[in-house]
Amino acid sequence: MTEPSRRVAELRALISRYNREYHQLDAPSVPDAEYDRLVRELQALEASFPELREADSPTQEVGAQPDPAFSAVAHRSPVLSLQNALDQAELRSFVERMGKATGDDMVAVDLELKIDGLSVVLRYQDGVFNQGITRGDGLTGEDVSHTLVEVLDLPHRLAGAPSGLLEVRGEVYLGKDAFLALNRARQASDQPLFANPRNAAAGALRQLDAAVTRQRGLRCFCYEIRYPTDLVETQTQALQKLAAMGFAIPPHSQRLVGWDAIWTQVNAWQERRHALPFATDGLVVKLDHLPTVARLGATAKAPRAMIAFKFPAEEVVTRLEQVVWQVGRTGVVTPTAWLTPVQLAGTTVSRATLHNAALISSRDIRIGDRVVLRKAGEIIPEIVRSLDTERDGGELAIAAPSACPACQSRLVQRPGEVALRCVNVDCPGRQLEGLVHFCSRSAMDIEGLGPKLLENLLAAGLVRSPADLFRLDETTLLTVPRMAETSARKLVRAIDAARSRPLSRLLIGLGLPGVGERAAVNLARRYRRLEDLLAADVADLCELPDIGPVTAQEIRGWADDEAHQRWVAELGAVGVEGRPETLAVAGGGSLSGERLVFTGTLSTARDQLVAEARQAGAEVLSAVSSRVTHLVAGENAGQKRRLAEQLAIPVWDERAFRRKMAGEDS
Ligand code: NAD
Repeated sequence: MTEPSRRVAELRALISRYNREYHQLDAPSVPDAEYDRLVRELQALEASFPELREADSPTQEVGAQPDPAFSAVAHRSPVLSLQNALDQAELRSFVERMGKATGDDMVAVDLELKIDGLSVVLRYQDGVFNQGITRGDGLTGEDVSHTLVEVLDLPHRLAGAPSGLLEVRGEVYLGKDAFLALNRARQASDQPLFANPRNAAAGALRQLDAAVTRQRGLRCFCYEIRYPTDLVETQTQALQKLAAMGFAIPPHSQRLVGWDAIWTQVNAWQERRHALPFATDGLVVKLDHLPTVARLGATAKAPRAMIAFKFPAEEVVTRLEQVVWQVGRTGVVTPTAWLTPVQLAGTTVSRATLHNAALISSRDIRIGDRVVLRKAGEIIPEIVRSLDTERDGGELAIAAPSACPACQSRLVQRPGEVALRCVNVDCPGRQLEGLVHFCSRSAMDIEGLGPKLLENLLAAGLVRSPADLFRLDETTLLTVPRMAETSARKLVRAIDAARSRPLSRLLIGLGLPGVGERAAVNLARRYRRLEDLLAADVADLCELPDIGPVTAQEIRGWADDEAHQRWVAELGAVGVEGRPETLAVAGGGSLSGERLVFTGTLSTARDQLVAEARQAGAEVLSAVSSRVTHLVAGENAGQKRRLAEQLAIPVWDERAFRRKMAGEDS
């Protein structure tokens, strides 16, 4: 076999396997982006080597064969898939193609949300629901009438339907809440989780027992009238007609004319879609004039006059180049994956956590593997799994270290724990991480004191513990390599400003075990002074919300540790004791009267920030309007930020938001 024919055979086998897993078993083993990449590679090879084309190549087929557990029903006409555009240029060239085909540059389209669900065809006889069929392989589907009647939005009797047969196409889906609840329940009963809402919806609909479907809360949008074909002239009218008959239609559908209008909307949805109560994996751009859609026809797989614009993947595949072990401030040694840089949910990712050695071996991750990457909680890049089907034998197993990567002392593993620990309190690696954490934004927020500079300060012997930072002056700082006068001056000012940070920030900075932002605020409000908190006994600590007996024990243990007592005493000696927290009086929290909207990528999970803002008295809204008092914008804030600027609504970054919440003026 030649090289291209070998690769074509390999790709076909792989894609067929993935199709089966996805469409038949509702359990994909690779993310969609990886599947799409393989299909595109196969398409490119088939285009370059016409002799390798075959009618039964997966590039020419839709979905997968129906499952024999259901009765097979032949479709009246093929139920096709959609061609897709992965970026602006590909979408633009589709719009240009449509312009040429219709002889009008100002192409009129209907823009619809692409619902991440399962395609179904519904048949009504004289306005009464008669039969429902999955797409199957596009020619034959599975009869799922018995489960479709359990779908919440499915009308059983229509208003004003044509007499005889009416056939419509729609998408059965699960709302985000129902999807999360379903996965939570599966996790609790040790069942495998669904990879996405689409597979979960398919799993719920393709059931022999309708009682299972009933419990899952499936919904359905309908978006196409397949028969009669001459009921309406345009796609916009088709949606109106469907709605009038009683179907739920994709919300926010819009008729748009010309490229500029199309792109403005498509672009805006990349951000807006996160606020929808159901998952979307893209948008569908459909030529509005239906007779032209029919005239332009279809390829074996998809109509020519519509296209799916796919949103950038939230899960991507890249190569694991190396694993680097690092010691953290508590002594735990963790592996970090160094990856071939890849775009993920709006940022370039080249590092990801691997958590611990046990996880590496349970997921059988090896150096050189192609790995699936995802952002956990939409923030932290994480390796989900390796693609073992793509190994070439050159991959290397990852060995856990026996010595600390920073001080070479022997690592220990506490009974019952998976973590490897460095127990040397003078370990320079631990000291550095402790100081980096102390200065970080969510702790003492000392601008300009980043990891590199702290490393230099440690190496020069100028700092060892947090209190040393507050003894730094301009003259000392100027002895550090590459430190200029202006930056030294600014830094001293920033350090000085941190002296009066609230006690809750100091508690976070010191790294009290198990104490997150909310618990820190509660502790600070209850005890007011650091020394009183550190004198508190376990029973007293347990009375606070968010502090359970384990955390209380750990805080007590922390306070009893001599090294920590020394830190606190030294901090007191340089005047850093944590300013008593502003008390939240009923209706008078630090953010009371504020109506906030959050947008963009924030360094803390959005849910948490929202909860904190509400606790501090703010009202949190989802849409920008003139009622909003401030927009809290993280990185890559798009549409909402622009709208806020148009309405002259002041914008806070995360830091300003935190300062306001802590009752500081900034
Ligand atoms: P598709 O999901 O890219 O798009 C077509 C489908 O979009 C239609 O069948 C329809 O069901 C749906 N849709 C939702 N809203 C719509 C609307 N408003 N108008 C029209 N259609 C709408 O194509 P597909 O053929 O269903 O599936 C192929 C895709 O599935 C691949 O691109 C890949 O992303 C995924 N897939 C993944 C794997 C895997 O292993 N991860 C395997 C097979 C397929």
